[in-house]
Amino acid sequence: MKRFPWMIVAIVASLFAASSCAGSDGQSVDPLGRLIALQEPIFPRANGIDTWEVVVCRVPVGITDPLYAPIDDRMSDDASAIVDSLAPVSDYFQRWSGDRYDVRFVAAESEVSILTTETSEQCVERALAASSPDAEGVLVVADAQHDMDQEGGRGTPGTVCVAECSAKVTGRAVYVGAADFMGDREAGVPLDLVEHELGHALDWPHSGMSIGSLKKGSYDSPYDLMSNSAASWQSNPSLRDGPGILVVDLLSVGWITREQVEVWRPRDRQRSVHVVSRSSSNTEDSKMIVVPVDENSFFTLEFVSADGDDSFHTDGFVIAHRIEIRGGSGFDRRQFVVSPELRAGDTWTTDDVEIRIESIDGTNATLTLTAR
Ligand SMILES: [Zn+2]
Repeated sequence: MKRFPWMIVAIVASLFAASSCAGSDGQSVDPLGRLIALQEPIFPRANGIDTWEVVVCRVPVGITDPLYAPIDDRMSDDASAIVDSLAPVSDYFQRWSGDRYDVRFVAAESEVSILTTETSEQCVERALAASSPDAEGVLVVADAQHDMDQEGGRGTPGTVCVAECSAKVTGRAVYVGAADFMGDREAGVPLDLVEHELGHALDWPHSGMSIGSLKKGSYDSPYDLMSNSAASWQSNPSLRDGPGILVVDLLSVGWITREQVEVWRPRDRQRSVHVVSRSSSNTEDSKMIVVPVDENSFFTLEFVSADGDDSFHTDGFVIAHRIEIRGGSGFDRRQFVVSPELRAGDTWTTDDVEIRIESIDGTNATLTLTAR
């Protein structure tokens, strides 16, 4: 299905190139350009200081909202204690943004509460209504735990911020249940859920191990904060943060430049490409290879080294995803694994290109791409 439109586009591109400047990209499809154009409004929020107000929502015993577990236990932490627990979240985003994103947490002056007949929606509404004009996001932590079969939390970027970026105006919010703040404090608070929901507030979508998982709402990939965010500490309990972040998401908020993406074109015939690990602080070398499919779809290849937030993997590997831009937001984008854990000597093919992993060392992966 996808080979046919690609062939048409390739022919148009070569005709255009013949009648224009040599070396022009002509009419080549540019899904990356479309992705960046769509996501540019989020760049200011993801670069620089982003202030979040932390608000506790008191949930009464006997609450009827089925989101909550029917138990009497309640979290004792107040907003200041939660702010203290969240310091590693700022560090996590500082690492992955290369010091571009500085998320700061401030305790709200007062708490909010709901009635037994109300829901978590009212927690968020009241926290937003009471928030200070300086807060660009509101992080609401209910003092009650969610039931086992319910979501852990949710996050939204709110409306596009033009002149006025306060959460009160945009509705930008994250909401989580109390479970992570009521566990064994010796081990520390697991922070992957808050990090995942803050990812949604940067307009990042979920990813999955297949298109089927995504459609079922099963976020089962251990390779992405925006999928099974608990994968790292489930594998190594001393880890508290989520796994690493897909490079396409780093690009979508301006944490890597477009110059750090290698785009493969059919006319390339054969190319050897080096990519550095996605966790690398290197701001010049390539971090991702993109194989365009059409105006809205592309494949990505990135190198995951077994260090830092990805240290729960036994060794490094290259991973391939398919990305499909949909709708008008990043959240609608589909991102799913098409080939997990490629190691030296492995090959993976699309209709148009064969990709061979030539070598992997601690910091680099070398791949050869050959037109088919
Ligand atoms: Zn989510």
